[in-house]
Amino acid sequence: MIDKLAIIGVGLIGGSLALALKQAGAVNHVVGYARSDLTRQEALALGIIDEATDSLADAVRHADLVFVAVPMGAMSAVFEEMAPHLSAHTVVTDGGSAKAQVVDAARTAMRQQMPNFVPGHPIAGTEKSGPSAAFAELYQQHRVVLTPVDETSAEAVRLVEKVWQTAGAEVFCMGVEQHDLLLAATSHLPHLLAFNLVGMLAQRDDCDEVLRYAAGGFRDFSRIASSDAVMWRDICLGNQQAILELMKQYRQGLDQIEQAIRSGDGDYLIDVFIRAKKARDSRF
Ligand code: NAD
Repeated sequence: MIDKLAIIGVGLIGGSLALALKQAGAVNHVVGYARSDLTRQEALALGIIDEATDSLADAVRHADLVFVAVPMGAMSAVFEEMAPHLSAHTVVTDGGSAKAQVVDAARTAMRQQMPNFVPGHPIAGTEKSGPSAAFAELYQQHRVVLTPVDETSAEAVRLVEKVWQTAGAEVFCMGVEQHDLLLAATSHLPHLLAFNLVGMLAQRDDCDEVLRYAAGGFRDFSRIASSDAVMWRDICLGNQQAILELMKQYRQGLDQIEQAIRSGDGDYLIDVFIRAKKARDSRF
């Protein structure tokens, strides 16, 4: 049982963890930090948090667990501001979508507290944001990756693992670099493809006409293009190296497909499509 949980950034990711732990009866008191009064009032009204504050110091003081769930670009400033107010026993974790940048920021701001810092990433989400997007079931049967670093204590990892399991998730541990490469491939690159395609179509004069005839496939593929712009800017800039590597590979594949279409090489296209279909059908 967690006595005091501090949620820093009461949106989809932070709010959903608070709701899941409350529903499981695993937390006594949830304090939410948000900069805007509107967000604080909304989070209180929705029963996500028991207490709202615009002071990071008040939010984390005497907390047993602090969950930082702000856009990645804001993490460094949040860590700096809250570090002096953390108790010796307070465990800190985060939900940032790329880990190397978050770990660097934590090492700079929370050098002394690093044994109590457990970098994490719930592989769950929707294209919606803010407190009203949060729901208790978000993490059920989803994976959460923890990327403990050399300094992280085993005790802190155990607590964070237990918390995510209580929220219904399956927890895995891996290295920071491996995490960032895997997520660039399965999440970051697909989001960029969707943003680019929908953005490209939106710039056409006949955009309305084009989209009027969009079928289910386009709707499925384009759903993630409705995700939050700030969050995705921060992910792209925060996982630069891995994303650029994956974009290079993707561009090579697209060039080969273009060449096959140009030269009428149907066999090549069949090979590519069958390989992709087999890979997908065997896993999902
Ligand atoms: P969200 O927009 O729903 O919530 C973010 C919260 O942070 C909001 O309450 C916002 O007011 C607050 N915030 C924004 N800028 C801030 C700042 N500069 N200082 C303090 N607070 C600020 O976003 P979310 O989807 O909950 O994402 C939160 C984190 O979780 C991000 O780091 C994101 O990379 C990560 N994440 C998101 C998803 C997803 O699918 N949405 C999945 C996994 C991880």
